[in-house]
Amino acid sequence: MKILVLNAGSSTQKSCLYEITGEFLPSSPPQPLWEGKIDWSHYQGVPQIQVETATGEQLVEQITTDSQSEVMAHLLNTMWQGSTKVINQSSEIDVVGHRVVHGGRYYRESVVITQFVKDAIANLINLAPAHNPANLAGIEAVEKLLGQVTQIAVFDTAFHGNIPEAAAIYPGPYEWVEQDIIRYGFHGISHQYCAERAADLLGKDLQSLRLITCHLGNGCSLAAIKNGCSVDTTMGFTPLDGLMMGSRSGSIDPGILIYLLRQGNYTVDDLDRVLNKASGLSGISGISSDMRQIKAAISQGSRRAQLAVDIYVHRLRFFIGAMLPSLQGLDALIFTAGIGENVPEIRQAACEAFEFLGIKIDVSKNTHKPVDKDIATKESAVRVLVIHTQEDWQIARECYKLVSGHGKMGNVK
Ligand code: ADP
Repeated sequence: MKILVLNAGSSTQKSCLYEITGEFLPSSPPQPLWEGKIDWSHYQGVPQIQVETATGEQLVEQITTDSQSEVMAHLLNTMWQGSTKVINQSSEIDVVGHRVVHGGRYYRESVVITQFVKDAIANLINLAPAHNPANLAGIEAVEKLLGQVTQIAVFDTAFHGNIPEAAAIYPGPYEWVEQDIIRYGFHGISHQYCAERAADLLGKDLQSLRLITCHLGNGCSLAAIKNGCSVDTTMGFTPLDGLMMGSRSGSIDPGILIYLLRQGNYTVDDLDRVLNKASGLSGISGISSDMRQIKAAISQGSRRAQLAVDIYVHRLRFFIGAMLPSLQGLDALIFTAGIGENVPEIRQAACEAFEFLGIKIDVSKNTHKPVDKDIATKESAVRVLVIHTQEDWQIARECYKLVSGHGKMGNVK
């Protein structure tokens, strides 16, 4: 089965074509036949496409057109035309899976896209204004180009769809629940991938594991996972809640917002910009939202860069602690995404605070660029894993399960 995965962000569109043969889906991905990326905001706003195939063919091109669907068509055409051709015709693609950021309260599982589903994604644009429009544009571009191919929406919120009410409902007035103002949580595709991969790496049944997954990228969130389901998470009604992030504040006293609005110096749009773009690592350090640059500044003695990391670590420990009661125990702590996978100091600092629970990192394993590895000591009461997140493969697996009607997952029991 050939599965095309489209993963649209606010400034990029990543795509890849997987071929799945046989019934078993390994927990880590095979190499895609073809990978493509559109960078919408490349030099002076002219979109750039980049393509690479499994056989090593590469293509980089600037596309001068105002039409998003023309750029998409150009990218997808490279699968069956020119030097990067990997299939003979577009009809060889069996199914197209889309990462859709917001599925609201209704979509707790992946779903075959119909007009009804498209309308629902459009109706949720006010909850995900930066993402759902790009997701819809991708779906419509594929319709135009590939006609009646089966398309599947895999929602970033779905994995958290069964969080118990006590964790999902904010203690505001009950009317908020009726207005759908509840905790949705995000990064669900990554949290689910890491949970399934962790079970595989540990050789355990996912249903038997209590896990905390730490997705630490530009956006950061934790999930508490029990019986294979998310039972609590740190992002909320929006991706602004929870941990300190690259440029987002995470949770802050809501009284600060009232204070700033009352002072008259802030409009609602100002607050939106400050909380999403000028806070977090960037806001505190005054240097960058990028952890690499923060680390470089610390080594040159920047006090604010050090403070930014200290707050980041404090909040990470705080929320790891907050996830524990929902699990009533912990089998593995999992680090993923740019910071989670690449910054040993952050993993070390997070774990140090929980040594009293018997969590112990092996310093040498932690510092030797672990990928899909257990970095805990033998004696540690909790396993500590570093997992390279593979959201596109998780989307492909969801598509395969839905289309083939069965969900056999490699070694994952
Ligand atoms: P996104 O949420 O945009 O997908 P990523 O998962 O790529 O983000 O994570 C981006 C973050 O990871 C940035 O803060 C970046 O500095 C950090 N990061 C990525 N690679 C490294 C590295 N080798 N060393 C330190 N930090 C890194």
